[in-house]
Formats: sequence, C-alpha cells, structure tokens
Amino acid sequence: MNDLRVNFERLLKDLEELGTIGRDPKGGVSRPSFSLPDLEARQWLKRKIEEAGLVCRQDGAGNIFGRLPGNQTRVVMSGSHLDTVLNGGLYDGSVGVLAALECLRRLKEENVRLEKTLEVASFTDEEGNLVGDFLGSRAFTGQLLSGQLRTARTQFGHSLEEILQKAGLSTDSVRGAAADRPELAAYLEIHIEQGPALEEEGVPIGLVTSIAGKRYYQATLVGRPGHAGTTPLELRQDAFIALSDFALRATQLVARKYYGNTITIGRVLLKPGSFSIIPGEADFTLDLRSQEPDSLKSMEEEVLALASEVASTRGLTFYSRIADSTEPVRINEELLDRLKGLCRKLGYQYRLLPSGAGHDAQIISAVCPAAMVFIPSIDGLSHVPEEAINPEDLEKAANLLLHSLISLASE
Ligand SMILES: [Zn+2]
Repeated sequence: MNDLRVNFERLLKDLEELGTIGRDPKGGVSRPSFSLPDLEARQWLKRKIEEAGLVCRQDGAGNIFGRLPGNQTRVVMSGSHLDTVLNGGLYDGSVGVLAALECLRRLKEENVRLEKTLEVASFTDEEGNLVGDFLGSRAFTGQLLSGQLRTARTQFGHSLEEILQKAGLSTDSVRGAAADRPELAAYLEIHIEQGPALEEEGVPIGLVTSIAGKRYYQATLVGRPGHAGTTPLELRQDAFIALSDFALRATQLVARKYYGNTITIGRVLLKPGSFSIIPGEADFTLDLRSQEPDSLKSMEEEVLALASEVASTRGLTFYSRIADSTEPVRINEELLDRLKGLCRKLGYQYRLLPSGAGHDAQIISAVCPAAMVFIPSIDGLSHVPEEAINPEDLEKAANLLLHSLISLASE
C-alpha cells in the first residue's frame, strides 16, 4: 500500500471538466450556491461518485457525500466545497472535493477495505453567497447561527426558502441536517493557500496550524447632513470624516497592539450621497480577524469602543450589529504530527502556516479533529479568474491525503 498513488491525470481531467460548469464570460467561474451552474455541478459530482462505485448521499442541507464503507461505521472524512464567488477561480474548494474523490476512487479500484469508513464531502454554500458563510458545514455540525435561516432576502433577490425549494430542500431540512451526521473520527481538507507564503518560499505543501476567527459587523455613523457651501467646517457632523478618522485610528491600533490580526472596512455607503451635501450617514462593514480567541475578543471590544469615542467626540452616534462570527481554531496536534510524518515519508517538503481565511474545516473541528493541507496559490491570487496552481503541488497534496486517509482509517 506504501506505493499507492492517486491517478493524477484523472484528477486533472475532473478539475478541467468541473471548470467548464458555470464558466463566466468575464473569464472566471460563477457557481454561487443553488444557481443553475451550482445545481449542474452537484449533479456532476453525484454522477462521479456513483461512477466510482461509492455510495452517494445528500443531507437536508444539500451537502453531498460519497462513501467507501469500512469495517466500522465511524467515518474519516475529507472534502471542501464546489460553490464559488461570482467570477471566481477554478481551484478554491474544487481541489479539496476532487482530490478526496480521487483518493476514495483509487482505494475502491484497488479493492482496499479499511477499518474505518471513508467519505468525500462537498459542503453547501461555503462562500456564504446566500445567508452567511458555511451554511452547509454549520448545518452538518449543528452550528447554524441564530437567525441565519430567517434572512428574508438573499443577495439574489429570492428568499432562502424559495431557493432551497428549487433544490428539493427547505429551511426545516437544513435545520435537521445534523441529525444525519455519521460519527466522525477525523476531517481533512486540501485547499489552495489564497496567499503568497508558500509560493514565495517554493514549498509545495503547507500544513495549517490554526485558522483565523472573525467578526463581521454592519455599522453606521450618524451625523447631520448639510449644505456643502454654507456650513462652516467647525459646525459639521460629517459622517465620512468621522469614519475616516475611525478607520485610520482603528488600523493603527490593530497594527500597534494586535500585530498579526486584521481589520478591514470593505464597503462604505454615504448618505444622502450627493456632490453638494455633507454626508449625514456612513454605513460600513467591519471585518476583524485573529488566530487567537482572547486577542480577537479584546481587539473587538477596543475597536468598537474607539468607534463610539470618535463618534461622540465629533458629535455623531455610532451603531453596530454583528452580522457573522467564527471562532479561531487551533489544529489538532496529533493530526498535524501525523501529516508531518507522512510528508517526511513521502519526501515532500512542507512548512507550517496559519490560515487567515475561514474554511469548512474550522466549522467541522467542533465535532472531530480537523486539519488542512494548503497548496501554493500562484501570485497568491484567489477569488479571481486568475487563480492558479502548479499541478505538481496538487499531485503531492493528493498523495499526502491518500496516505493520511489510509493511515487514519486503518486504526
Ligand atoms: Zn474555499
């Protein structure tokens, strides 16, 4: 079994085939969850699972699984997601699902029967195009956010209920998905790095040590609109100036006191939004991330306090509402040691690194030990059509996954 390798040509062909589903005229791939291309990709995956002779099932959240039975019902699972952002790349999520599929297919064709059962998984709406990130893995592990399924409208204008109905699902079936979860022994996920670290060092494999937690806030600074020509500067309650002051001071605070954490204001809407009117209101998003739970909590408190302070000093009011949150996760040491040992055995160079982006593995780590293997992203690019990988890196990661699954399922 030591010499067993994945059929890499076949894995590349699968990636290529999947990449034709949801091709965007702008050059990338658009497969937001439950869009027509996503539904097509789901059918495609189910067909691949069945053709491989694996047992296919779908849970109430639309998560898709392919099973290779072992002597025990306990499951070692590996996967990722097939949904993409709008006009995203070919590899985010897809490499994790298809590499796992290839590993199980390879074991099946060698008639390998292991002690534990193996499953490939594809989780619904990892990208959070509908109602917040990780809908599928959150439902699978019983960690749906309160109110997550009650969101009246998705960004596509339809209600979640209407969208789910088209796929034969409902919010009730999503709520019930966790009840179908098998007992999990471990979860592994291959993913592109989505950053530049591995490529810069020329290392093919990244073993993730921790995954950042985040807080998303929807925030507003309310001041007073006024005439741009007649209101003296000192009498203004300009929401944009207050936001600028806050943005700069909060970024300095994080850089100075919480080095390694991040703060991002990704969207700003000024109201009334006119050439000649002082902005009376600034709606903005606030994204805070950290690898450490305590650090995330105290950064969050300080940043929000700073926003209130800036607002009151300038005669404005600050409002905020939490929109989404995940906790930072430290990767299971035993699992990490096993991956390091297998890298050495296979002769693959690796380095340890944290993940700044969130992943299904982070959510699944609440119910079993979970680990992640990163491959380099060319130029660190992700969520864009230019997203690219070196095929040799994926081949190594897929073989590492194959031997990790064999090792974990043999016990
Ligand atoms: Zn992803």
